[in-house]
Amino acid sequence: MNFEQFSLDPRIHAGIRGAGYTTPTPIQQQAIPVVLQGRDILGLAQTGTGKTAAFMLPILQRLTKGPLRKVRALIVAPTRELAEQIAQTSTTLSKQMKVKTITVYGGVGKAPQVNALQRGAEIVVACPGRLLDLIGEGQIDLSGVEVLVLDEADHMCDMGFLPDIRRILKHVPAQRQTLFFSATMPDDIRALAGDILTDPVTVQIGMIAPAETVSHALYPVPDGLKSKLLLAMLQQTPTERVLIFTRTKRRARTLAETLDKQGYRVAALQGNMAQNRRQEAINGFRNGEYDILVATDIAARGIDVAAVSRVINYDMPDTVDAYTHRIGRTGRAQLTGEAFTFMEQDDEPMVRAIERVLGSPVERRRVVGFDYGGAFPASKSASQGYAEHRPQHGRNAVANRAPASHTEAVRPATVATTPESAPAKARRRRRPYWRRQGAQG
Ligand code: AMP
Repeated sequence: MNFEQFSLDPRIHAGIRGAGYTTPTPIQQQAIPVVLQGRDILGLAQTGTGKTAAFMLPILQRLTKGPLRKVRALIVAPTRELAEQIAQTSTTLSKQMKVKTITVYGGVGKAPQVNALQRGAEIVVACPGRLLDLIGEGQIDLSGVEVLVLDEADHMCDMGFLPDIRRILKHVPAQRQTLFFSATMPDDIRALAGDILTDPVTVQIGMIAPAETVSHALYPVPDGLKSKLLLAMLQQTPTERVLIFTRTKRRARTLAETLDKQGYRVAALQGNMAQNRRQEAINGFRNGEYDILVATDIAARGIDVAAVSRVINYDMPDTVDAYTHRIGRTGRAQLTGEAFTFMEQDDEPMVRAIERVLGSPVERRRVVGFDYGGAFPASKSASQGYAEHRPQHGRNAVANRAPASHTEAVRPATVATTPESAPAKARRRRRPYWRRQGAQG
């Protein structure tokens, strides 16, 4: 199966080739023909399934005809990061076309967005708050919108954007195509979908259950030992890109500092950072400048980084949905990935909820050779319920980039001690973390 099966303009096919896509993902196979027919869609799909192209390709096909420099497609997304990612996909896929895509979100200057709107664009990707501002100021005309996309509707709801969405709906024509995407379907989202969709076709990919290409494991550990355990794991196991989630902004910042001091190439991504710093962290992670990104849930929404090989939940997520979205960052586009979750004793109820959704128990593991200091995991042997996480060594181990001498306290007995190499030391000294990140408290 390839993209030629869809009746798309040759310029769009060129864009698809330019993006490097050869085979449509399951959601693209299901959704593209339906959207091309002009039908509304209720898409139950998480980020990482290829849903952006699933709605963007038919939108571009629509824009091959009709007026230019008029807002004809409006995509509303919960975060700036997701908005940027959608706009990037649109720009890549429409490279051979005259179509212009612009983004509208808060936290950055309004003037460039207003200027871009005045110059004219067919596709606007917007976050609700700034979009409403611009509507209120008469800076954006949505009367020509033919397609409305609501992306990650459940997140918009979590973030309190539901009233804003309903307000925005008053400014787009009632006669339109609506494409509605959500990874989960709580009652208020179902109600919104019911109100705004007309005879929709439901497309459902991996509803709620996290991507099947991801393997899951739990690491019981008390909070006080988490950073040591993390260092031991990074030291032991070959990994390319690691995305680590913490519960709070402060914990993200502190953990990134700790890892930086150990010589890892790491950036933090949390809501207290200015937008340009956040983008710099994401870009650095994407282009390989950083091997590790330490993020909070909200800041990480919409991160699109291919080939995240491992997600580590340093702190247990608050909800099953948050778990789903966190681990949706690995195993993307049919690559395989691992989701490791640190588990404190109080996390049992959340673990049970996650296991219910996954449909099977998640393996509990202990890191061989790690000194749990008599804390709860140490009292159980593998034969009593814990699988063993053993050291592995590989060419691309993040651990290989860390100066070995810094992790002695947590070094498993099986790893030999080697002095810090000169290049490793130089790398560690290069651009201290706090200067690179401009992290704020
Ligand atoms: P999304 O779910 O839209 O965030 O997409 C997840 C990732 O899959 C992004 O990195 C896309 O560039 C990538 N992707 C989307 N469609 C395809 C495809 N047909 N083949 C390969 N990669 C894809």
